[in-house]
Amino acid sequence: MPSALVFFTELSQAPSKAQRELLTLASGFENPAVAVASEVGAGAREVLSSYGVTKLFTAASDEQIFGAHEISVLDAALQATGAELVLLANDNFSRELGARLAVRHNGAIITDVTGISADLVATKDELAGSYSAQAKATRGTLFATLKPNSIQDVPAASSPALAVEELALNSAGDAKVRIADAQAKATSDRPALSEARVVVAGGRGVNGDFGPLEDLADALGAAVGASRAATDAGWISHDAQIGQTGVTVAPQLYISAGISGAIQQKAGMQTSKFIIAINKDVDAPVFEIADLGIVGDLAKVLPQAAEEIRRRQA
Ligand SMILES: Cc1cc2nc3c(=O)[nH]c(=O)nc-3n(C[C@H](O)[C@H](O)[C@H](O)COP(=O)(O)OP(=O)(O)OC[C@H]3O[C@@H](n4cnc5c(N)ncnc54)[C@H](O)[C@@H]3O)c2cc1C
Repeated sequence: MPSALVFFTELSQAPSKAQRELLTLASGFENPAVAVASEVGAGAREVLSSYGVTKLFTAASDEQIFGAHEISVLDAALQATGAELVLLANDNFSRELGARLAVRHNGAIITDVTGISADLVATKDELAGSYSAQAKATRGTLFATLKPNSIQDVPAASSPALAVEELALNSAGDAKVRIADAQAKATSDRPALSEARVVVAGGRGVNGDFGPLEDLADALGAAVGASRAATDAGWISHDAQIGQTGVTVAPQLYISAGISGAIQQKAGMQTSKFIIAINKDVDAPVFEIADLGIVGDLAKVLPQAAEEIRRRQA
């Protein structure tokens, strides 16, 4: 059985769903180890143990150079473990990190995977979810980023002792780029878009007003997403864009409102378990992939849906 190493930039005592899914996947391999590029508290260490992790590498952050600290941590942990599989989050930063280290170690990276077998064959969706493909690295360590909501989060049957190694690193090196300044982004109480079990997404049809859509999202505890037409119009942040050049989501429920369903939008949401589409045009392509279609004006449908959900919740 190959050995696995999971990398996180940070880990709290309440790991995100996507982080727990990565730990679950790693627990199926030999000697699952974790590397974290920041300090890890006692609560988070207990969580790691409950997923069968036997070894933790940590190193306090030295935020001088973009990505350099994280690269050093993962590189050092990889050399210490000799892991054949490195599992990373599916965000852009982790993908870049994995790709850079794959090149450095003459290995390979497969992104957006939905599962990895014991003989390191990765499964992923292709062509907007129309095909399920199997891929295998032909050399070196396999770096893989796991698409959230792809596997069930299941802690291990027993909690082994966790050995902790604090890495002593000097990542300053020969810096080409240094971080001059950083501001934390405003956070919301809504779940992260890529991990949410329910997503409510709006397009050009919302005509600049995401209010009714956000109200429905809050009634459902959902994340808010958007088409590129809506983000390009400046109605909502670019982080909310779902699709080929945006975030890929695979929630249990995806509600699409005022989105036509262009192929580039479908590429980011087609593997959702249940799709409800609201569009005033009966011929909109989104209805081709919808499990439930509502032909109507979203300005009327969304408030009624939110009101009914709140009435039933009361
Ligand atoms: C290389 C490339 C990459 C791209 N990447 C992405 C991507 O990642 N994500 C993405 O989304 N797009 C992407 N696009 C753009 C994509 O092709 C579409 O242009 C875009 O998805 C259209 O957004 P939309 O559906 O919101 O707008 P439209 O296509 O204009 O559709 C608006 C829909 O709203 C409906 N509507 C209008 N008013 C109402 C109302 N009151 N009630 C109900 N329905 C209403 C209309 O009937 C229509 O179907 C990309 C394009 C290219 C070329």
